[in-house]
Amino acid sequence: MYEREKKQLIETLRTRGISDESVIQAFNDVPRHLFVPKILSPHAYKDNPLPIGQGQTISQPYTVAFMTEKLEPVRGLKVLEIGTGSGYQAAILAALGMRVYSIERSAALYDMAQTLFDQLTIHAVLKCGDGTLGWKIFSPYDRIIVTAGAPIVPEKLIEQLSPEGIMVIPVGDRQSQTMKKIRKQADGNYTVEDHPYFSFVPLIGREGWKTE
Ligand code: SAM
Repeated sequence: MYEREKKQLIETLRTRGISDESVIQAFNDVPRHLFVPKILSPHAYKDNPLPIGQGQTISQPYTVAFMTEKLEPVRGLKVLEIGTGSGYQAAILAALGMRVYSIERSAALYDMAQTLFDQLTIHAVLKCGDGTLGWKIFSPYDRIIVTAGAPIVPEKLIEQLSPEGIMVIPVGDRQSQTMKKIRKQADGNYTVEDHPYFSFVPLIGREGWKTE
């Protein structure tokens, strides 16, 4: 179903500069139309964000592909996602063979994602809570991906990142964020790569924005 639309989307991603073949393959493998409300499934393979309820969105496919590529995914690595939302980004990471942990603040979205993962037998460990605090019990993480716009880089996430780990996180004001790729080095220093002009719903929590 939607195979032609999916092929077109993948062509768009390639044209926009996505070149990691494992990421392209994951986009081929994960049926995005099952992660959006049924009424929107004919639009699932357009390169747009879509509403998923609770005032939240499934990110634009290009943004998902860009962040996934920046994360330098490797089969078997442990990744923590903040902002499960529809579960699509987590499903892409699972399709890449990563060991996925994902936190969602909205109980309704968490329930929907867990039900869908059970139906599709997607292996990921999900929880409902404030992701700005990370998930200490399973830390450290080789990779951390934050899929909501943060005012700062939450300190707990930095603490829970492995030495030589990579975090990808949009940081800025409520309207516009710069995508930061943060690499923790073995000596405890960091390198940061910046990519401006992204726009996400806010990351709300103890180390995020305080209100919706
Ligand atoms: N990754 C999602 C997907 O593939 O559908 C899209 C995420 S949506 C752009 C951002 C999500 O972050 C929303 O579902 C929102 O409820 C969630 N969120 C916001 N603040 C959060 C927090 N502190 N902890 C966990 N989730 C949070």
